[in-house]
Amino acid sequence: MNSLHWYQKPLRMVQSVLREPDIRNYRADEVVRYLQTIGANCMIVNGGGVIDYFPNKTHLARINQFLGGQDWLAELIDACHAADIKVIARLDFRGVEPERYEQQPDWFAQDAKGDPHVLWKFIRRPCYTGEYANGHAVDYLRQFMSRYAVDGIWQNCLNFGIGPCYCQSCRTLYRQETGHEIPESDDYTSPVFAEYRAWKAGHADRHMQRMRSTVKSFGEDKAYCAEIFGMFHVGNAVQTGIDLYNARDYFDFLLSPAFQDGSAHPGRKYDHLNAPASTIRFLKALDPAKQAIVLYGNNGTKWRYIKAPSTETRIWLWQTLSVGGGMWNCMFNGQHPGATEDTRNAMIEQPAYQYSLLHEDLLRNQQPVTDTAIFYSKPSRDANGHDREELDQYGTMISGVERMLTDCHIQYSFITDLDLTPEKLMTLKTLIMPNTTHLSDEQITIIRDYVRRGGGLVATYQTSLFDEQGARRPDFGLSDLFGASWTGMWRDTGSDCYQLVRQPGHPVLADMDIDHTRVIMNEEQTLLVRYSGQSDQEVICTYIPQIDNQPPEFAWTDQLETEFPTIIAREYGQGRVIYFANQTDRSCYTNGHEDFIQTLENAVRWTAGQPLSLSTNAPESVQVALTRDAADSDSLILSLVNMTGSTRRPMRQLVSVRDLEITIQLDAGTQLAGSDWLRCEHGGSVVCKGEQQQIDIRIDQLDEFAAVHLRLEDDHEN
Ligand SMILES: [Zn+2]
Repeated sequence: MNSLHWYQKPLRMVQSVLREPDIRNYRADEVVRYLQTIGANCMIVNGGGVIDYFPNKTHLARINQFLGGQDWLAELIDACHAADIKVIARLDFRGVEPERYEQQPDWFAQDAKGDPHVLWKFIRRPCYTGEYANGHAVDYLRQFMSRYAVDGIWQNCLNFGIGPCYCQSCRTLYRQETGHEIPESDDYTSPVFAEYRAWKAGHADRHMQRMRSTVKSFGEDKAYCAEIFGMFHVGNAVQTGIDLYNARDYFDFLLSPAFQDGSAHPGRKYDHLNAPASTIRFLKALDPAKQAIVLYGNNGTKWRYIKAPSTETRIWLWQTLSVGGGMWNCMFNGQHPGATEDTRNAMIEQPAYQYSLLHEDLLRNQQPVTDTAIFYSKPSRDANGHDREELDQYGTMISGVERMLTDCHIQYSFITDLDLTPEKLMTLKTLIMPNTTHLSDEQITIIRDYVRRGGGLVATYQTSLFDEQGARRPDFGLSDLFGASWTGMWRDTGSDCYQLVRQPGHPVLADMDIDHTRVIMNEEQTLLVRYSGQSDQEVICTYIPQIDNQPPEFAWTDQLETEFPTIIAREYGQGRVIYFANQTDRSCYTNGHEDFIQTLENAVRWTAGQPLSLSTNAPESVQVALTRDAADSDSLILSLVNMTGSTRRPMRQLVSVRDLEITIQLDAGTQLAGSDWLRCEHGGSVVCKGEQQQIDIRIDQLDEFAAVHLRLEDDHEN
C-alpha cells in the first residue's frame, strides 16, 4: 500500500464549509482532535474564491474581513500533517459580487443583451472561456499552492456555466471554431443549440484539464477533484456540458453529492434509502481503479443548521461501506462537527469511520459482484431524462430497476456507454437496458454477439429505437433479439390498464399465483409492437386496451385479447432475452405493485440462465451486498445493512432482524479457505459445504450492520 498515493486508499473525510466569521479564534488543535477521535484521514476547508480565507494578493481579491493576523490555514495544515491527516482546500470560482464585477465585467459571462449571468440574486457568474475562470483561476491556484502545502484542491463548483454565454470571448471563439454565431433562443435544450452545447462541453472539459494540470504541476500526490452532480442530475448536465464522465477523466478520486435531504429530486424531501450504495456502484463502474466517495452531511444541506435524521445517517454510512465506498461528511457551519450550532450528530461517523480504518487494506479494492449490470447511456439520458420525475423517461427507469435488484438481493453494478465491450459483458450473467433509446450500430453488434454466445438481456420500451446521434431507426435496432417490431403506435396506459396472461407456465410469471388470475398490472406507457418471432410460446402477456372504471356498469370489455405483446421471452443463439414493450421498469419505481417487481425479477433470473451468486432469507428491508477484491479474486466481503423499521421517511427506529441465512454459490473448483467477521453484533457462523460448492452464512441477529470477509482457494481435490 505504501507505493500508492494517499487518495488511492479508503478516504474518511470531513469538510467544514466555513462561513466568513467561522475563522475567528480558529482552533486547529481542536479540529485535529475531533478528526482523530472519529478516525478521519482528510480535512477539506475553504481556501478562497468567492471569499478569500488567506491574504490573497491576486487581482479581484476579496479577503475575509475576520482574517486578522492569524494564518489559521497554515496552522491547520501543520497540525493535520503532524497527525497524518491530509488537507484539501476548497476553491470556488463560481463568481463575484457586483463591486468586483464592475472592475472587470469583461471577465464574466453575459446574456445576449450584455447583462451579467446572476446567481443567488447578486453573484456574477463566469463562463468556461472568459478570463476569470481561466487565466485568473490558474494564477490564483498557482499562488495559493505555492503558499500552502495542501494535499489537494476541491473546486467547488464546476457547474457555473449554465446555458449560453454571449461574452466577447465566447462570441469570438465560437465564430473562429465553428464559423457560426451563437444562436439565440429561450430553449437551451432545443436542437438550435446542439452545436453550441457540444462546443461548450469541449470548453468546460478544457477548463478542467487546465485546473488539473496546474494542480499536478505541484506533484502527482496533489489531488484534484470538483463538485459534479450525480447520475440522475440530467438538467444540470445538459445546461453545463459537465457530468460524471468528466470526473472519470480528471479527478483523482470520484465522488458524488448524496445528501439525505438531497437535491437530486426536486420536490422530494428525502432521497431514496439506497442512494449511497447506488452512487458508489455507479462511480465504481466509471473507473474501478479510483476511490469512490459519497458526499453527504451529518447535518443536512437544505436544513444545514440541524442534524440529519440520525438513524438514516447511520444507514447512509453502512450502505456506502457495504459496496466499498468512502465517506465525505460535509457541514456548513462551525470549525468542525463538534463545534457548531447542533452537535447531536458529531460522533455519528465514529463506528463507520473506525470500521473503514480498521479494515483499510481489505476495503480499498472492493468491487460489487455483478450477476447483472444496468446499462447507462448518456445520449439516452440526455434525450429522455428530466429532473422532475413525472416528466422523466430515463432516471426513473433506472431507479425502478435498482429498487427491484436491491429488494430481491440481486448483485449488480452499472456498465456505461463509455466502455460497453465484449470483455465487460462476458463477466455478466445478464444485462439490463432500461429504455436505452440511443444505441450505436457498433453497440448493437456487441450486444447481439454477447447474447448469441450465451448472455442474457432484459430490455424495455424504446430500447435501440434511435442511433447514438438521435436519428430514429425504422424499427428497433435489436428487433431480431426482441422478437418485436414497432407499429409506430403507443398507448398511454397510465390508468385502468392491464396485461393479459398468455403463457401462465412461463418462468417469467413464476411466484405470482398465476393460476388464480388471467390478468396482471400495467401502467405508465406501452408501445404497440408486433410479435415477429417464430413460436407463439414466446408471447408471455399481451396489451389490454384501457377499461375505464367509471361508470362501473360500463367498465367491461369482451376484447381482452389483442395482437400486441407486452412481454416477450426468447432464446437467441445460446442466450435468452426478455423484452418489455411497456414501462415495467419505471412502474417498479412509480407504482411498485408486486406484478411489476416480480416480472422484472423473474426476467433477470430467467435470462441469467444459471443460479445467481447468492440467495438469502433476508427481508427486502435488509440490503445484502457481495463485493470482491479487484486485485485478489479470492477475497470477498459480504455486508448486510439493516433498514427494517418504520414504514415512513425519515426512519426513526431500526428493528433488529434475527436468524438471517445467506448462501453464496462458489465457482467450480473453488472452496472456502477461511473467514473473518469484520463486524458481528451478535453471533454468526460460516460453513462451507464443499460437495455443494456453496458457503452458508448465518447471522443470529442483525441490528445495523454486519460484514464477513471470505477467503477462497482452489479446490485441490478437483
Ligand atoms: Zn463567455
